[in-house]
This record gives sequence, C-alpha cells and structure tokens, in this order.
Amino acid sequence: MTEAIRALVSKLCKHHALSLEEYAQLIDGRDAEAAALLAKYADAVRRQAYGNRVFIRGLIEISNICKNDCLYCGIRRSNAGCARYRLGKDDILSCCEEGYALGFRTFVMQGGEDAFFTDERMTEIVRAIKARYPDCAVTLSLGERGYESFARLREAGADRYLLRHETASPAHYARLHPKEMSFERRMRCLRDLKHLGYQVGCGFMVGSPYQTTQDLAADLKFIEGFSPQMVGIGPFIPHAATPFADRPAGSAALTCYLLSILRLMHPAALLPATTALGTIDPAGREKGILAGANVVMPNLSPAAVRKKYALYDNKLSDGDESAQGVAHLRKRMAAIGYEIVTDRGDYQEPKTI
Ligand code: SAM
Repeated sequence: MTEAIRALVSKLCKHHALSLEEYAQLIDGRDAEAAALLAKYADAVRRQAYGNRVFIRGLIEISNICKNDCLYCGIRRSNAGCARYRLGKDDILSCCEEGYALGFRTFVMQGGEDAFFTDERMTEIVRAIKARYPDCAVTLSLGERGYESFARLREAGADRYLLRHETASPAHYARLHPKEMSFERRMRCLRDLKHLGYQVGCGFMVGSPYQTTQDLAADLKFIEGFSPQMVGIGPFIPHAATPFADRPAGSAALTCYLLSILRLMHPAALLPATTALGTIDPAGREKGILAGANVVMPNLSPAAVRKKYALYDNKLSDGDESAQGVAHLRKRMAAIGYEIVTDRGDYQEPKTI
C-alpha cells in the first residue's frame, strides 16, 4: 500500500467522504494491505454503530415475471427458457408464517416488474402481513413504480424499499439496459421513495459489463450524497441465456473492498453480504461481514420455486442460503465473532449511536 492510499483511508475515516478522483484512486490502488486496513476500520465503525449484531431478512421472491429486458438478468422478458411463476397472497403469508417461527422480523418481497401485482393486490398483501405481524418490517423490492403507487404502498405499511440504481453513470446505464429503460426514471424513483419516508436501499453490481473505475467512483460519490439507509452490492454473475453470457463475473475481493468503503462512508448503513457474494465465493458471506456488512438475507421463498428465480447461473438458494438453514448460518457467523439477532434491524440515525 502506498502512502497516498493510506492517506485516503484516513481521510475517508475522518470525513466519510472523498472526491470522485480520490474514490477512483482508492479503487485502483487496491491491494491486500489496503483491503485489510479498510476492513479493520470498517469493522470498528460498524461495531460502534451496531455492535457485533448481524440482522437477518427473510427474502420472498414473489414473481419472476418481468416486463423489463435488462441485459444482465436471467429473468429478463426475452429469456424464453425461464420457467415463470408468481406467488399468491396465501403463498406469501405462508412464507411469513414460517419465517416468523424461524425468527425473522423483516420480510422482503422481491420480484420482477409483474403487472399482476397492482397497487390493489400489493397493498392488500402488505396490510395482511402488517396485521398479522405488527412487530415486523416489510421491505419491498419490486422495481420502478409511480409516485402514487409508492405512496399507496407506504400508506399500507411498507417500511423499506430496495431499488438498486445499478450504475450512477448514464452512459454505463444505457449499455446495461434496453432503450426503453431510463436512468432518469430510476433515479427519480429513488428520490420519490426517500421523499415518502421509506428506508431506502440503492446499490449496484460489481464487475458488470463495461464497468470502469470511473463508473465505480461515480457509484460511490452518488451513494455518499444520496445517503441511503441500505446499500446492496454484489458481484455481477453471468447468466447463460442473456447477452452477457460470456462476460466474466465480478470479483468477491473488490466487492468486499467496496463494502468497507461504504461502511466508512455511511457508518450506520445496513449493508447486506449478498447471495451473489455467497455464490461467487463459498466464504463470501463471512468475508462480506468481516469487510463491514451487517445484514444477511436468507431465502424464504417456497422450495418449489426457488430455483426458478435464477438471476444468474448457479445462484444459491438451498442450505445456508435458505431461511431454514438459519441455525447453521448462525453458527457460521458465531465462528467469526458475529451474532445473528431476531430484531427488525431498523436503521439507526447516526446521532443516536
Ligand atoms: N425488479 C426489481 C428491480 O429491478 O429492482 C427487483 C428484482 S432485480 C432481479 C434485483 C437485482 O438483481 C437487480 O437490481 C440486479 O442488480 C441484480 N441482478 C440481476 N441480474 C444479475 C446478475 N446477472 N448478477 C448479479 N446480480 C444481478
């Protein structure tokens, strides 16, 4: 590690912010020593905010039907080989029942942009979950919707919304998405969600096709300014039936490096060690937590549909990745000094920590 990189790490620790050029320099100057130093500080900062607690979220993948055609995604509409499914309200409530018994106090409903899930249907589902489990948080991750729709869902009781911005560079966005999808609309959705009082999560894939250091620096600068409560990042992993089938996967080490930077930038953020990180590296969950992440999202979808939510090849959904495997995941976390807790795991305003 050079002295310049050491100085950037110190500056990030002190000011929680760097310039665009400095983020780029920090990314390009990555080596094992810099990664270890960043992880050490990130861990200390996270312990100040949340102790050694790791929050669990039960992920219910409610539909793999999607009107969008994102070039990287296995459930894109033009993948004719994808066996489509959607869950009904009763299926979703059964998942919550099982999850609640397993200790989950946050349910994340994620899916493709499936027109079946109108505001009427979705608000009914959210209300039913909140009525049965008033001590639980409901997180939605259903893609882009209009302001009124987000407002109705919020009013029905949804607490949080995850919508990765995917990339903060408009030119890069255009290379990852078809023409009809718009960078501006994505960003507008994120602003709307914040305005409506959701706890908001943005994020991006690490190593997505055409991504440059400048793009990653732009992602970091955007997240610094947007100040989301959650940030989801994971390596890009190719899916055989997409135009990016032959592209290399992103790196687990770079993902962890960026997690440490994000932790130092936003000490109180909720950062998941994602399924993609666990898929690319068998020890990815642990590495992510040790780098500064504090959330894991085991899969609570019905076993019969799990394999169908195939965003990328070999996506994990069984064993420690499943909600039913949470006892073993708890042991894995305990082995590295972290404790999985049964807690809603809400964002802690920095001034209160
Ligand atoms: N439709 C919603 C949306 O657009 O936010 C939620 C579902 S979408 C499939 C969830 C996330 O999966 C995307 O934001 C994207 O970053 C990630 N993803 C899709 N394809 C991926 C791939 N090939 N490798 C890694 N992550 C991928």
